[in-house]
Amino acid sequence: MTAEFAVQGLGIRALAEEYGTPLFLYDGAALRRRASDLRELLHPRLEVFFSLKANPNISICALLHSQGARAEVSSMTELRTAVRAGVEPRDIVFLGPGKSRAEITACLELGIYAIICESFGELELIDEVAARLGVTAPVALRVNPAFAVKGSGLTMGGKPRQFGIDEAQLMEHAPLAGRHRHLRLMGVQVYLGTRILSEETVVRNTERILELAPRVAGHHGFELEMVDIGGGLGVAYFDGERDLDLALLAKGLNPLLDAFGERHPGTRLVMELGRYLVAESGTYVVRVRYAKTSLGENFAVTDGGTNHHMAAVGIGSFVKRNYPIRLLSRTGAPADETWNVTGPLCTPNDTLCKRAALPALREGDLLGVERSGAYGPSASPVLFLGHGHPAEVLVDEGRAHLIREPDTADDLMRKQRLHRPSGSVTG
Ligand SMILES: *Cc1c(COP(=O)(O)O)cnc(C)c1O
Repeated sequence: MTAEFAVQGLGIRALAEEYGTPLFLYDGAALRRRASDLRELLHPRLEVFFSLKANPNISICALLHSQGARAEVSSMTELRTAVRAGVEPRDIVFLGPGKSRAEITACLELGIYAIICESFGELELIDEVAARLGVTAPVALRVNPAFAVKGSGLTMGGKPRQFGIDEAQLMEHAPLAGRHRHLRLMGVQVYLGTRILSEETVVRNTERILELAPRVAGHHGFELEMVDIGGGLGVAYFDGERDLDLALLAKGLNPLLDAFGERHPGTRLVMELGRYLVAESGTYVVRVRYAKTSLGENFAVTDGGTNHHMAAVGIGSFVKRNYPIRLLSRTGAPADETWNVTGPLCTPNDTLCKRAALPALREGDLLGVERSGAYGPSASPVLFLGHGHPAEVLVDEGRAHLIREPDTADDLMRKQRLHRPSGSVTG
């Protein structure tokens, strides 16, 4: 087995035999490396919070936490996952535009660091829940800033959005501090977009957020205990994209954080990262079931697709572009053919990659869709056609660990209730 087709010396073919396919395979060394690069290069005052949305597996969260990452969560399940993974409540923030009373209650009972509030109406609800529990709720304001910054894959600010409170509304509003007896306003959060691949964009965003946050706190009369500068750092998936240069980013970012830190020595500085922490570590491993041709094109029909990896399929994107994919089961074969790699679903959209350069494929081959550790099964329609969630395996310190059992048909049928109609015509 060459190193090319192994994770930390464990052959991918053997792992696929043992755990079955389709399979999400994570390299713990890659996760550790990402976390340590961030720690070593970015300003020591900047705390990295892992956005569980990108990969909600509890073992991934625990590994990142062991490397210093805190947690940013947006649902009851993510909150419980972070706590069970060992993240201290003082290192958890909860955000999301539609928080329920139950979620707010859980946050306050656990005593998490901050609830990031996204509307005036939510302030009232948090105050009411806190009053009932007899506690003071720590609340950061999510601001939809008046500026939009180009260079992000998906813009989240500077436009009409359901997220946060518009900067103008906030600055026109009478001071909020003291208006709610059970709230302690303590921070400001801004998140401008995802898949940012320009260092300069991140630096410019941060500069403006660090200017905005004290202005908001000053206007509303609260002490700035935390500024959450969002994040949205991207990774390169497609031809023509390049990865962020973390050293270059640090060169632009660190002086800003340093200057801010001097002016605000008691303020925690937070960055939320999902994709950037986990994407590179994951490979989606599928097996070719059938190799066929149609009207002159090659098709490899595999055992996984849209149902586990909607992002790679490109659903929701304007144009279908191919994630990096390669043959994992044989070495040395030249990539001198053109293949469509499709999944098992009964829809023509179920295409993992379109006209990709690959070696001649045959039944039983293993293919790996790389950089697949973020927004995989949890962001895909895993119930479509009833295949369910795939297995997830983490290789850490040279050993493989099953960190998510695959769903079985029994699992998926368990919650259905059979109503047997009377008067069946089939007797
Ligand atoms: C989705 C999201 C994140 C994580 O985004 P990535 O691009 O995966 O890093 C962080 N913060 C907020 C508010 C989000 O909505």
